[in-house]
Amino acid sequence: MGIDPKALWTMSYGVYLVTARAGGRANGQVANSVFQVTAEPARLAAAINKENFTHDLIRDGGWFGVSVLADSVPMELIGVFGFKSGRDVDKLAHATVRDGAHVPLVIDHAVAVAEARVLAAADAGTHTLFIGEVAAAEVLSGAAPLTYAAYHARKGRAPKNAPTYRGEIEPPAQAPTKAPAVASTWTCGVCGYTYDPAEGDPAHGIAPGTRFDDLPGDWVCPVCGAPKDAFLPD
Ligand code: FE
Repeated sequence: MGIDPKALWTMSYGVYLVTARAGGRANGQVANSVFQVTAEPARLAAAINKENFTHDLIRDGGWFGVSVLADSVPMELIGVFGFKSGRDVDKLAHATVRDGAHVPLVIDHAVAVAEARVLAAADAGTHTLFIGEVAAAEVLSGAAPLTYAAYHARKGRAPKNAPTYRGEIEPPAQAPTKAPAVASTWTCGVCGYTYDPAEGDPAHGIAPGTRFDDLPGDWVCPVCGAPKDAFLPD
């Protein structure tokens, strides 16, 4: 029996913001591989890419925070935490943050938050699996949590550093050679954001009615910062 990646895609996950603090720096990132491993005592695990800034902050700080994102979370919040690096931007400045006892906790669109102290860190290759004991946890709203499947259906592909990233095995949904219609929408191949000429991008000086072709060459995806050529016509 070979390995059919589609078999692994059938596994269910939520979508979380994992936060950490160390050495005067703090950061957070989107993660889907967060789960409870034991109930008594309550312990969580989180698989974090070694290349991510949050990874080093968890390793050095010894704690991680988890925000369970609601189904209603806007793509912009996921964009800030999933497609930018905390080495370059202060992601937490773009969110409402509560100071936990040990780490900052993002409370925007969070169903619940928790703080965990790292007990063990297992080398899983590209990722480290951090296992932590829960020191605090609180429900913030009765909203339904976002599932990873719903996120995929609505938002497109996973961030490339997600453990379940499919970009290397999933072909693009659109052929890039398709001739663009004048009024067509274009979708970011990195994060799934769709540019609609009828709406433009007023927050970045692009008036409604601006065709994709007429966007300035230095215009970038407002969600993930990808350049124009990362977009494909719908
Ligand atoms: Fe994007």
